[in-house]
Amino acid sequence: MSSCVRSSRALSPVMLPRLRLLHQTGYRLVGRGLWTSPRCLTVSGDSQLLPLPRQARVVICGGGIVGTSVAYHLARLGWTDIVLLEQGRLGAGTTRLCAGIVSVAKPISIECQMANYSSSLYQQLEEETGVKTGYVKTGSLCLAQNQDRFISLKRLASRLKVMGINCNIIKPKEVAKLHPLVNIHDLVGALHLPEDAVVSPPDVNHALAVASAGQGVQIMERTSVQQVLVEKGCVTAVETDRGSIKCEYFVSCAGQWAYELGQASETKVSVPLHGCEHFYLLTKPLQEPLPPKTPVVIDMDGRIYARPWQGGLLSGGFEKNPKPIFTEGRNQLEIQNMQEDWDHFEPMLSALLRRMPSLESAEIHQLVNCPESFTPDMRCLMGETPGVSGYYVLAGMNSSGLAFAGGAGKYLAEWMTYGYPTANVWPLDIKRFGNLQSSRTFLRHRVMEVMPLLYELKVPRWDFQTGRQLRTSPLYDRLDTQGARWMEKHGFERPKYFVPPGKDLLSLDQSKTFYKPDWFDIVGAEVKCCKEAVCVIDMSSFTKFELTSTGDQALELLQHLCANDLDVPVGHIVHTGMLNERGGYENDCSVVRLSKNSFFIISPTDQQVHCWSWIKKHMPNDPHLHLEDVSWKYTALNLIGPRAMDVLAELSYVSMTPDHFPSMFCKEMSVGYANGIRVMSMTHTGEPGFMLYIPIEYALHVYNEVMSVGQKYGIRNAGYYALRSLRIEKFFAFWGQDLDAFTTPLECGREFRVKFDKDTDFIGREALLQQRQDGVTRRFVMLVLEDHDTELDLWPWWGEPVYRNDQLAGTTTSSAYSYTLERHVCLGFVSPPLGPEGLPTAITPDFINRGDYEVDIAGQRYPAKAKLYPFSSLFTQQKRRKDDIELSNLQGK
Ligand SMILES: Cc1cc2nc3c(=O)[nH]c(=O)nc-3n(C[C@H](O)[C@H](O)[C@H](O)COP(=O)(O)OP(=O)(O)OC[C@H]3O[C@@H](n4cnc5c(N)ncnc54)[C@H](O)[C@@H]3O)c2cc1C
Repeated sequence: MSSCVRSSRALSPVMLPRLRLLHQTGYRLVGRGLWTSPRCLTVSGDSQLLPLPRQARVVICGGGIVGTSVAYHLARLGWTDIVLLEQGRLGAGTTRLCAGIVSVAKPISIECQMANYSSSLYQQLEEETGVKTGYVKTGSLCLAQNQDRFISLKRLASRLKVMGINCNIIKPKEVAKLHPLVNIHDLVGALHLPEDAVVSPPDVNHALAVASAGQGVQIMERTSVQQVLVEKGCVTAVETDRGSIKCEYFVSCAGQWAYELGQASETKVSVPLHGCEHFYLLTKPLQEPLPPKTPVVIDMDGRIYARPWQGGLLSGGFEKNPKPIFTEGRNQLEIQNMQEDWDHFEPMLSALLRRMPSLESAEIHQLVNCPESFTPDMRCLMGETPGVSGYYVLAGMNSSGLAFAGGAGKYLAEWMTYGYPTANVWPLDIKRFGNLQSSRTFLRHRVMEVMPLLYELKVPRWDFQTGRQLRTSPLYDRLDTQGARWMEKHGFERPKYFVPPGKDLLSLDQSKTFYKPDWFDIVGAEVKCCKEAVCVIDMSSFTKFELTSTGDQALELLQHLCANDLDVPVGHIVHTGMLNERGGYENDCSVVRLSKNSFFIISPTDQQVHCWSWIKKHMPNDPHLHLEDVSWKYTALNLIGPRAMDVLAELSYVSMTPDHFPSMFCKEMSVGYANGIRVMSMTHTGEPGFMLYIPIEYALHVYNEVMSVGQKYGIRNAGYYALRSLRIEKFFAFWGQDLDAFTTPLECGREFRVKFDKDTDFIGREALLQQRQDGVTRRFVMLVLEDHDTELDLWPWWGEPVYRNDQLAGTTTSSAYSYTLERHVCLGFVSPPLGPEGLPTAITPDFINRGDYEVDIAGQRYPAKAKLYPFSSLFTQQKRRKDDIELSNLQGK
């Protein structure tokens, strides 16, 4: 770590050229650096001398804040035989130079929860261990320089209040009262979080280590993990520079080294993160020393943060042009010793002086540059890796590792103990990524975008701009020339909507809004075409698996995994959940019985790795049972609309009316010249139409034929925004948005998809039976906004609090404008207030139907009507029960 003393130098940027000349006179920061406590971090003396145990139940790699938190929480949950290995000294990695801010102002709820827990944990650690942690409840101020930022802070405030976190939206003059240095002239308001705190990170690290050691965790410093040994897909041992340790579990908390460590083993593990340099400045004590309880300032529009530090200030930021760290071929010490870079820091310094002009005369103590790891989607990486059983990861903290470590360590420990944490951590689950996000080039480009994004304003439906065009459908170029605008999911490009020729849209930057977006009419026209004629949407990104066997094994496995009955005649499609032991959705999919012993499984795009590992985990080791990921083999076209059957009938010479091809059936057909197209009568929207699964070599031909024949039926391209509007107005829940591992089919009105009496016992059956007996305590509802002006009011997105009779009753999970109802529709969960003993109470239809509902959008409440069923007028398709149809009608072709 490099740092320079800037004694008697003022902060003004005009000094920078001179300061740079002083570079050579800098001294290197050693040991604990800026955190002044004299105590050495080692827990057990010079532990290198201690012999390495030959065996342990769990080996944790990394003695930073994350590794020690995992050790602490595992020990608290009763685990014994835990060994923590650290290549240097405890807390010698990024934790050593962490800025020490523990704030709950995080973008998503699970992150707020983790930070909230960490804050309470760090507050009581001193009492628990006797180790001083430097905990000071300073509170923090998130500033808004413009109305859009203010809206996003108000949205955050609504969300935090739902979690019971104390926060207030305040005026600029109140900011001035709370902070003596802040220039408020360009501010429109702020969010005040009184419970936020600052700590000394190495001391918290030390306290966690002391507490863990007290509970029997063996901590070995100066021991470097070289590789993890794997046999038959399971962790068996860890090889270190001091010998090997046999173990059942390995937890990689190796921070920025976790990527390389994953690659170092013979069985490679993808840990998609990449290091970037991260800077902050320290001043000497100010003339009038800043009181220790002065609030932390987070000025995202200025890209800076600042906290009190030893009478002076510590201020860092997230610059627009970050510097990724290239680790290959460099030793670890070299990576840690990052050079200061005043030119690079200059924009942040200027922003700081704009925000706190009186700092002009402050003296610089030090410019710190320390590596931190960032991930492709700004969320940390948690959980068991998909390929290796027993290999867990907790890393990639995106500059919030201190704030997250307590909560994240707790959830990971719960996960390892009970099979799943007590909160929904899907947004952090390492299984949301696969190998494809682990290429070095992808990571490098993406982290260059991620680091500045941390402080950029996020509006509904923003997209990453880097790492694009990685996975595309064969129709990509064809659709692009027809005006497709793209979004990315799991590396796959998906059309959002199609800009008609001659229509100008705003540039990406200008189109950012919390209000009515510029694509409103375009998507409206696509929806209208889906309702009245026919549209085609390229949905090739869907996950697709084929499960086959020589005997009944495939059916037996699916009957065990799925809540619905899969023992259906060949050609039937079954919508079903794959549930966990608690009855929650691990996967929501459509399964097609292709033949007696083969099935086609269609899952959401981002479930590719998660669903694969779920099936694999439960699959018997039987050479006659085979699972294949065929996602890349098929292009999927969704033909939506009443004229879809006319288009397909013309192309296949087969009648496609509901009489001949009822809902939820699949037939292999020829379409144009192409054979072997899997045609399925479903659209994922509740509208009539068909999904076509086309072997990729035929994709362009089939698409061209469909578009050509479709002309006379008014066909046009459509995108996912139209699909979203259609499915939400029909009350269709989507996995990852509305459904998760904590939602059961009974809670979202899908009991009809659970076959309790089928021959095979399925995972989650017991839990569902119990829930049916006890009554569900929350319910998925549709909320139609009233008195909401689409032109002028803020639009809902997701995560908005829902009030019933003025009492908090739940939150929304997704929302869309319904062009049919000409209203906004939100989907979400509501529950009744807790019972007398603080226990959840069963929800009744009366509770739902009789309440006065409101949806809180950025602090403004809009009345809403809650519904348990969609408006029947939205369904135009003439339905026939598949049981009524003679199977013989469906064979052939
Ligand atoms: C300048 C800066 C300021 C920050 N400020 C804040 C803040 O104010 N608030 C906040 O919440 N977060 C902040 N962060 C982020 C936070 O510091 C990090 O996210 C956190 O410290 C990461 O902790 P960790 O345990 O994952 O990593 P580390 O602290 O880097 O620990 C990883 C450990 O693993 C060890 N290791 C690696 N490989 C091996 C191996 N093969 N064998 C044995 N040991 C190994 C390393 O030696 C290291 O000690 C900041 C980061 C930086 C860079």
